[in-house]
Amino acid sequence: MKANDSVRWHGIETAEALQLLESDLERGLSEAEAEARLAKFGPNEITRHGRTPEWKRFLLQFHQPLVYILVIASAIAAGLGEWVDSTVIFVVVLINAIIGWLQESKAEKALTALSRMVVTEVTVRRDGRRGRIPSRELVPGDIVLLQSGDRVPADLRLTSVRGFQVDESALTGESVPVHKHSDPLALDAILADRRNLAFAATLVTAGRGEGVVWATGDKTEAGRIAWLISEAADPPTPLMRKIAEFSRLMLWLILALAVVAFAVGLWHGEKPVTMYLAAVALAVGAIPEGLPAAVTIVLAIGVSRMAARRAIIRNLPAVETLGSTTVVCSDKTGTLTENEMTVQEIFAGGLFFDVTGSGYEPRGELQIDGHIARIAEHNALAECLKAGVLCNDSWLVEKESRWIVEGDPTEAALIVAARKAGLAEADIHIAHPRLDSIPFESEHQFMATLHHRVGGRMIYKKGAAEQLIERCSNALDSTGTAVPLDKGQAHEAVDRMAARGMRVLAFASREVALDHHRLEHGHVATDLTFLGLQGMIDPPRPEAIRAVARCRSAGIRVKMITGDHLITARAIARQIGLEDERESLAVSGREFERHEGEALADLVEGTAVFARFAPEQKLRLVQALQSRGHIVAMTGDGVNDAPALKQADIGVAMGRGGTDVAKNAADMVLTDDNFATIEAAVEEGRGVFDNLTKFIVWTLPTNGGEALTLLAAIFLGTTLPILPVQLLWINMGAAALLGTTLAFEPKEQGLMHRPPRDPGQPLLDFPLFMRTGLVTFLVLAGAYGLFSWEIERGAPIDEARTVVVNVIVFVEIFYLLNCRSLIHSIRSIGLFSNRWLWAGIAAMGAAQLGFTYLPFMNAAFHSAPLDADAWVRILTVAVAVWLIVGIEKWIRARSDVERSAELASHPETMATSHRSQ
Ligand code: ATP
Repeated sequence: MKANDSVRWHGIETAEALQLLESDLERGLSEAEAEARLAKFGPNEITRHGRTPEWKRFLLQFHQPLVYILVIASAIAAGLGEWVDSTVIFVVVLINAIIGWLQESKAEKALTALSRMVVTEVTVRRDGRRGRIPSRELVPGDIVLLQSGDRVPADLRLTSVRGFQVDESALTGESVPVHKHSDPLALDAILADRRNLAFAATLVTAGRGEGVVWATGDKTEAGRIAWLISEAADPPTPLMRKIAEFSRLMLWLILALAVVAFAVGLWHGEKPVTMYLAAVALAVGAIPEGLPAAVTIVLAIGVSRMAARRAIIRNLPAVETLGSTTVVCSDKTGTLTENEMTVQEIFAGGLFFDVTGSGYEPRGELQIDGHIARIAEHNALAECLKAGVLCNDSWLVEKESRWIVEGDPTEAALIVAARKAGLAEADIHIAHPRLDSIPFESEHQFMATLHHRVGGRMIYKKGAAEQLIERCSNALDSTGTAVPLDKGQAHEAVDRMAARGMRVLAFASREVALDHHRLEHGHVATDLTFLGLQGMIDPPRPEAIRAVARCRSAGIRVKMITGDHLITARAIARQIGLEDERESLAVSGREFERHEGEALADLVEGTAVFARFAPEQKLRLVQALQSRGHIVAMTGDGVNDAPALKQADIGVAMGRGGTDVAKNAADMVLTDDNFATIEAAVEEGRGVFDNLTKFIVWTLPTNGGEALTLLAAIFLGTTLPILPVQLLWINMGAAALLGTTLAFEPKEQGLMHRPPRDPGQPLLDFPLFMRTGLVTFLVLAGAYGLFSWEIERGAPIDEARTVVVNVIVFVEIFYLLNCRSLIHSIRSIGLFSNRWLWAGIAAMGAAQLGFTYLPFMNAAFHSAPLDADAWVRILTVAVAVWLIVGIEKWIRARSDVERSAELASHPETMATSHRSQ
């Protein structure tokens, strides 16, 4: 095939387009030809443009208020001729920037790699067969079949459409969906008016369409303008925002303290240069230099841990928000259940038939009262099964002796049931070729097809039983004769099947005249003949049952949303363990519609199951829950779920069964479509937050202690117990070698026995704030105390300062052990469960020995070798801090146990709302 860059595809007939592209509508390309074209045109991928260049991202590392202080301090120190200090401060800032930059690049790469895990597939026709291929393997000339929910994978010339609408906002900015057709257009039509073309990166919002690919990858319209579409940056997470606010506050506080310290020193009669250095030391000591890098690392580790548990995060704040989730609204089919449908019971001609066998293997039989039922003797049954085969868009294939569904499991179950009765689909299809169809859409809850048959035309319809029965006037009796329908009996049969947890589909037919060629909604609205019901089971996923129980104990409510019948939904909910003494079990979508405002909020709070629920209603459901302060995770897979996914705090899309539109709108994609994965992600989210809190609780007392030690010296008019370069050594070294290892802490036991975290809650709650204060004071007492001791016994100033540096570092090491768990003791979490931590401690210990004994370190950092006695004093202080914090944790854990015992006796206080407070 030649390159056809100059062709105006919208201006030519489809036949000409196919000829130019050397393709065939019925057969598509051959696999061999497709392979050759892939080699020639390259993969169907758009080169990513518009990313922040690396150098700019590196410079941005310096764009932080706290770093400004350090850079200015370094410049002034240089101006004062303090070259060593100036250089060390600058080198530290540089190292900090390099670490931050590397971490950010790594995190970004990880996120990009994750986004590739969600592979987009497209349906194509090749070698005369329909099949799914990864979108990147698409080539010009391929015939692509699209339906609502799909992302258009390349630029196409449409060859046929049915109710086909496309959201082209990604390309044109226009958010109203555009109706498409397949007729040729005037050559001068502008891009937005080229209604017979579908463009890559746009989304199909309704209908079906078929087209031939004329451009892939960078050659598509989206590829041409890709450099204009800048990458949307990840918004800062709530925690990042809080930390930024906290940093700004600290900036002013530190500046104010530095000015006060400077003034007090001058008043004491110190030289301005000395006081300037003291003020710089104070600022340097108080700044937690490692904090921004630690936040990035912990979040990145959280994202990869979630990916390992099959939850792909598309939006970074979701990592944190997950930990605060109070309600999970989940679809039933495929998420809480296996989505493996098996017809178990059929009602036709007033009789009930049992179907044996399970799964998709067509082995089993139809029975009536324990005896084999022959379809030759039951005409209504035969018609009901035939309708199930004809009004069907799916098929079964046997691969390596396993039966696989291509399409919808509900429909596959109907084919299996027909085969068990001895009906062959191929014969039925040949005898009744399809002329037109109305595809199944969740909001209509039916599907209908128009068929040719000898001497006439026949419409078959299948769908949700309640509506379909109401549209029938006749029914086939057991001999196959049309008689008036006994609606009461039909509804009773539906309820009987639904009460056993079965999804019930009803079937109907209608004869029409030979001149019928198209099928409209009006043709299947009335006067139908009822053929029967097929009831199928879809077993709950065992892991979903366990996950629901775990959510319960974590104070998270689970609500099931389904398009299924109320009675079916209720039966399944019971099997999954969704009933709750506080919640009336189920409401239908219709009942839901009748409520508004506060009444609606009350209703949704108190209901666990929403049945016959339309996707559009999900949005109101999320809003009603949010009005009560809930943090809502909502699952969805279809086009109409997108608004609810966007509105929810965590929109969850299905990786396998979900449409591209839903994935686009979601914050998280489940690669296995499984409810248990949501629960796993919530658990990881809680773990991430815990580890961030641990880092903060660990780092702040050091900074506070250092600043207070210096302030004490300045106010008392004594020599500085520690120099700026030494502070930087501690802060940087300890953050990199010790603090970041907390990110690798395994999740704590009992993580899913706590209530959800209130997102409005401050970074540190009162007990943790008090602990931080206590340790700050201990650092001050230890550092200043040992400094005075050394000075008192006449040690040189360098030695006394080396003692101070070591006491702070060793307190940090021992306190790090306390911080491994905010609640539990180190014994209960396993001494060696975090090997990184011990490696970090060993490295930091070695670094301290170097700092104390290596001559070049002594020269750079004004340190001096210490004797054994000094070490004994240092280690005594560090161990004392460890013991004191251990006792404080023990006392708090005991009072927590008492509190949770109290909570357990008043559970309603557990999962209360947050936002409204
Ligand atoms: P979920 O529980 O995941 O929200 P669902 O599978 O329960 O989804 P839908 O797929 O919207 O919900 O199905 C709703 C109803 O529509 C079903 O109870 C059934 O009666 C009917 N239905 C489902 N699939 C088909 C189909 N392929 N053709 C005709 N009717 C169908």
